[in-house]
Order: sequence, then C-alpha cells, then structure tokens
Amino acid sequence: MNPGALRVAIIGAGPSAFYAADQLLRQPDLEYSVDMFDRLPTPYGLVRAGVAPDHQKIKSVTRNFAEIAAHPRFRFFGFVDFGRDLTLEDLKRYYHQVLFATGAQSDKHMGIPGEEFAGSHPATEFVAWYNGHPDYRHLQFDLSCERVAIVGVGNVAIDVARILCLSPDELARTDMADHAIEALTNSRVREVHLLGRRGIAQAAFTNPEIKELGELEDADIVVSAAEAELDAVSREFVEASDDRALKRKIDLIQSYTNREPLGRTRKLVLRFLVSPVELAGDANGRVASIRLVRNRLSRNEAGSIVANPTDQFEELPVGLVFRSVGYRGAALPGLPFNERWGVVLNENGRVLDSESNRAIAGEYVTGWIKRGPSGVIGTNKPDAAQTVALMVEDARAGRTFEPAEPQANVAADLIFARQPRCVSFADWCRLDGIEIQRGEAQGRPRVKFTSVEEMLAAIGK
Ligand code: NAP
Repeated sequence: MNPGALRVAIIGAGPSAFYAADQLLRQPDLEYSVDMFDRLPTPYGLVRAGVAPDHQKIKSVTRNFAEIAAHPRFRFFGFVDFGRDLTLEDLKRYYHQVLFATGAQSDKHMGIPGEEFAGSHPATEFVAWYNGHPDYRHLQFDLSCERVAIVGVGNVAIDVARILCLSPDELARTDMADHAIEALTNSRVREVHLLGRRGIAQAAFTNPEIKELGELEDADIVVSAAEAELDAVSREFVEASDDRALKRKIDLIQSYTNREPLGRTRKLVLRFLVSPVELAGDANGRVASIRLVRNRLSRNEAGSIVANPTDQFEELPVGLVFRSVGYRGAALPGLPFNERWGVVLNENGRVLDSESNRAIAGEYVTGWIKRGPSGVIGTNKPDAAQTVALMVEDARAGRTFEPAEPQANVAADLIFARQPRCVSFADWCRLDGIEIQRGEAQGRPRVKFTSVEEMLAAIGK
C-alpha cells in the first residue's frame, strides 16, 4: 500500500458528505480514497428530499457534487444501510477513518397538549412527502380543510406555506412527487397562517425567502401593522446592530402591512408574538383549532430576547397544523449521542467518548449531525473543512483505525455480499437520466421515482 494512502468511509450522501469528500480528495500529500454510503439508492440528501421543488436553482449544486463523484478515488454505494448492512465494527476492518454525515432525520415537538391529533404533522414529513422521499410517500395529508396553521417562522415553515399556496400551474412546473402534485392541485386550503412566537426582528427566515412570499402568483400576503411594529427591546437591539440584512428583513415585513389584498385565491397570514398552547380536536380525534397566547418580549439572563406569555388568548379554527420548529438528529448505532442537542457527541467534528470526553480515533462527524439543523447548503462547506482538517491532522499523527483489510476490492466484496443490489454512482447517473427524460415529456425538471423498488427496477437491479 502507498504509505500516504488512506481509506475513508462517509456515511450519508448529502451536501456535507460531498463537501468533505471533495476536501479529502484534494489533500496534497495524503492520498485519500473515499467510499460514500447512503441508505437510499439516490444521493444528495436534503438537496433531493428537502429543498423545495420550486427552487430548482438551489438544486443545481448537484452538478458540483457529480463532478466530485467523478474523481477516480471516489466510489458511491447507494442502498446500503449503516447499522443494518454495515456496522461500525465492519468499517473499522476496511477503513482508516469513518465520517458520519447523516443529517437530522427526525423532528422536534412543540410539547403541547393535542399535538397527537390526526391532522397535526411535523413539517419535515410534509416536505419529505412532497419531495417524493420513499419513506414518506404513503403519508396522507387531508387538504380538504380551508385553514392551516404552521408553527414556526424558519425557512422550512416558509417553504411549506409557499407550497400550500402554489397555483396548479406553478405546481405543474416543478419536480414535486406526482402524488403531491395531484393532492395539492385538488387542495381546498385557502388560508395559511404562519405563527412566529417572537417578533419580526427575531424571525428565523432569510430575506430572499420572505420576499418570495410576497411575489406568489395566486396568494395575498397579510401582516398586521400592530404585530409588525418593533417593541422596545427589539428596537434597541436593531438600533445597536450593524446587520444590514436584518434591517432589510424588517423593511420587507413592514412593507407587507400596507398591502391591499388583490383578491387572489389564497391568503397567507404572517403572525408574530403568538405561541401555540394547545390543539383542540373534534369528536373524531382530528385537529379542529389551535389555541394561541399572545407573547411579550424580554431579555433573559443570558441576554437573549425571549417570548413570555401574557394572559391574552385566541382560538384559531384550523383543519391542519404543521409544526415547523426544527429538525432533530437521530442517534447512530455504536456512536455516543447528545440527547439534549440531538447530535453525535463531538468537538469540532471529532467524535468524543461519552465517558472520558476524549476524541475517539478514526470517528468524525460533519453537517447537521455534528452542529444541529442550522444554516444553508453552503454552510456545510466550512463545516466540512473544519472536520477534514482534524481528520488530516489525526492521520498525519497516526491516530486512525488500523484496518486489517484496507484494500478497496475487499471492502467492495463485503458490501456486495451484504447488499447485492447496491447502487454505484454510474447506476445513479442512469436513474437520474431516466427521471430527467420522464420530466422532459411534461415540461418538468424531472419526474421522480418515489419507491426504492421502482428505482432499482428502472436500472435493472
Ligand atoms: P429554524 O430556522 O431553526 O426555525 C425554527 C423556527 O421554529 C423558529 O422560528 C423558532 O422560533 C421556531 N420555534 C422553535 N421552537 C418553537 C416552539 N416551541 N414554539 C413556537 N415556535 C418555535 O429551522 P427550520 O426552518 O427547520 O430550518 C432549518 C435550517 O434549514 C435553517 O438553517 C434554514 O435556514 C435552513 N433552510 C434553508 C432554506 C433556504 O435557504 N431556502 C430552506 C429550508 C431550510 P425561535 O427563533 O423563537 O426559536
């Protein structure tokens, strides 16, 4: 073996995985080879299953990922499930280092009574459903109601609100899963209420996203002037800040308070300073309304601006509630997990032993499973660079696994033995081509396969 040669397994094939692979493969004096695994036959993680189907430009980042995958020392093994087909012990036998880039596959709860009623869903599941993620294709969302509440005002909440307000024409131009296009085309939803617990200056969404909400073809945006006013605590914060994007955000939101409704089919109501306290159900156990409490802002001991409930309540009749209060990482077999933060226990990407709190040689994390569900796709690039720098430092110091069989072909033999139907990057490229071709006939970017069996059958696996 070349003395500088190092074999790395990356678990997960989303943006953070590809950015890390790229940086490993570019190391000047260490010859890294990368095997990337995904439990689905398809790569790209949330770029495929999270980014909104009407945001095709954002998805074009996959072209860069495909270029990274073309590197001669890169291999992709799709449809290989870490924990089922391969264990950490297996990986230690074949690789010098393992990098986990599994994202945040679960969601947070609001922790209020009634959250379990039918019609109350995590926004993350709705997103995965309309994007055709195979694990979520069978979900049902009852879009026969008139009014929907979305709790939270981050970019996921904005995506869900916008998707619920797209016209049939707008829907038909996307690569949304066919089942979702059909359901949303027949949707009777007419009012979408986005509920922010703090004020406009604390809204988690970003400016292009909130601007886009005001430009929808078939929905009027409504913001009350009273809720868009800065309270004293926020005003002081904004005046002391030199964040121009924040000032622009405030202007954008406040500009919506002067809008005359244009009588469009749907109404998108953006609320601030309200928290859900309870969901009420009907006799059939379906959500019927959401009880809200008005909040007042203050600074807590740590100096953060927080929402405090008042004694003013209101009842909003709704037929669907999406909680969009954040994704949450899922524990991985054999890895220490920080339950409170929903991330693998780590320091700057080095996995830490839960008892000694010391770095475990050979194990690393990047992306949302490392830092939690924050930032945009590009945030994963510096995040991956931080982890890769430590991987390189450790490799140079000889702090790696000591694989008994560090040969690429031996690892491949084991993988094929465990999962004979595993998918290579060339297989994925064929599947990609078929999806795009199916889309061309309909003037859409692609028509996705939404079941694993359909995907495998399409490429003869
Ligand atoms: P997020 O940005 O963290 O927003 C979560 C929202 O939920 C915040 O408004 C938060 O309010 C609220 N919230 C949390 N707990 C709550 C509770 N118990 N009751 C009421 N509200 C609560 O998370 P996200 O929207 O899931 O997005 C995840 C990441 O993906 C973000 O970094 C986002 O920018 C990114 N993303 C980007 C795009 C894009 O670029 N177009 C699209 C989708 C997602 P507080 O602020 O008061 O905590």
